[in-house]
Amino acid sequence: MRTSSTPGFIVALSTILLFAGCAINPVTGSRNFTLMSEADEMNKGRQAAAEIQKKYDNYDLPALQNYVNTVGQKLAKKSHRPQLEYHFTVVDSPQVNAFALPGGYIYVTRGILAYLNSEAELAAVLGHEIGHVTARHSVRQYSAATAANAAATVGGLVAGIFMPQLGGQLAQGFQSLLGFTGSALLSGYGRSHELEADRLGAEYLARSGYDPQAMIKVIGVLKNQELFDIEVAKQEGREPRRYHGIFATHPDNDTRLQEVVSEANQYIEPAGTDDRRAEFLRQTDGMVFGDAVNQGVVRGSTFRHKEMGFMLSFPPDWRVRNKPDEVVATSPDGDALMALSLFDTPRGSPADFARERFRLESSDQILSMTNNGLPVAVVTSTTQNGEPFKAGVIYHDSKAYLLAGKSDSPAAFDRYRAVISNAIESFRALTDAERESIKPLEIRTITARKGLSYTELARNSPLGVNAENYLRLLNGQYPEGEPVPGQKIKIVK
Ligand SMILES: [Zn+2]
Repeated sequence: MRTSSTPGFIVALSTILLFAGCAINPVTGSRNFTLMSEADEMNKGRQAAAEIQKKYDNYDLPALQNYVNTVGQKLAKKSHRPQLEYHFTVVDSPQVNAFALPGGYIYVTRGILAYLNSEAELAAVLGHEIGHVTARHSVRQYSAATAANAAATVGGLVAGIFMPQLGGQLAQGFQSLLGFTGSALLSGYGRSHELEADRLGAEYLARSGYDPQAMIKVIGVLKNQELFDIEVAKQEGREPRRYHGIFATHPDNDTRLQEVVSEANQYIEPAGTDDRRAEFLRQTDGMVFGDAVNQGVVRGSTFRHKEMGFMLSFPPDWRVRNKPDEVVATSPDGDALMALSLFDTPRGSPADFARERFRLESSDQILSMTNNGLPVAVVTSTTQNGEPFKAGVIYHDSKAYLLAGKSDSPAAFDRYRAVISNAIESFRALTDAERESIKPLEIRTITARKGLSYTELARNSPLGVNAENYLRLLNGQYPEGEPVPGQKIKIVK
């Protein structure tokens, strides 16, 4: 949950005069139908980068920014468009993501860095995104879209490996409860462009002193994320996150991908390759993992927000997820859901707010009270679809917090009434000392001793019920690996 509401990402560009014509594709040397000159491409990239900057903070660790930029620039110099001015940025987001804008703006989240295990894998992510830029994929897609449809969006310019909910509608809480998908999922590039980016990325890896096979490894990392998320989604009773269609098969079984990556072996320099694993682990040691403190932190089933100065507790066995626009908790069986959302400068009392928000009839029951020193209104009613729900509106520090819970059947709702009330009542302001004590989780590197297992590490981990699998994913050993004695591994502290 972010401190204040920001506009959604998809911003319609004002009408742009575009030149129709053909341009030489820098990669293939052949002519592509594009509506955009290189100068236009740069402008679009700059505009889109400004939008990204509004939505995401840069990760505030200059040494790591420097390191990622150095690796990126090394690859870019070996690319088909070495003359472009490339920008490589680590975004302060726990999501696993990497994306490119036209003209050479490339972003990786600290979320994706956490799951990589060598500099070669980082280079593979960056090389793939550079491939999208050099092959002008976004420009080609943009031109196709513009030719078909005058209303182009900046969203159409983004080439992501994995792009969940970038268009998330903020401050529209209750969306999960009402079953809206809400966010506009940006579509990927399709198989042929992805494969081309993999091929180009593999070439840039080889020319820069890395083994092109790192490309296959990284796609495996993303595929494992997807497989793991299918498991977790089942536990949480939600749809799994969808990656691009490119991961339909595991990279190890994808012969076309194997082929294009192996072709890059011809570009390996005489000096050979080095994955620079130790250097990558050194650079990412101490990096924040999961939610940043200014986004609120989840520990077990408790959510705390340092800046906004409050906490609340969900039932201990519920799964809690902190999303940009809301905090969502799911019951162990996935048959009940609670969501906390935030509204700035509410008018009137909590009861007035609830009445307006839920369009309540005069017959609906609203209970006004003071709880933990804060004004609260509690409502029990039904949604427009006829589903029963219970919601609390809490005023704190001139903001309204809405915590609403519902179940998938009236019988289940009756079972959960009490726990929804308990969660509403647990909302309270933090003391100054409590605020100060909130720290983010960090990636730490340790040397595995003999006999150390992920089961043992999971027992002392703050990562919750799925700690063992998270630790395997972080170390590239999902689903069955174990630490190798004497080798460095990552844990979360
Ligand atoms: Zn891609």
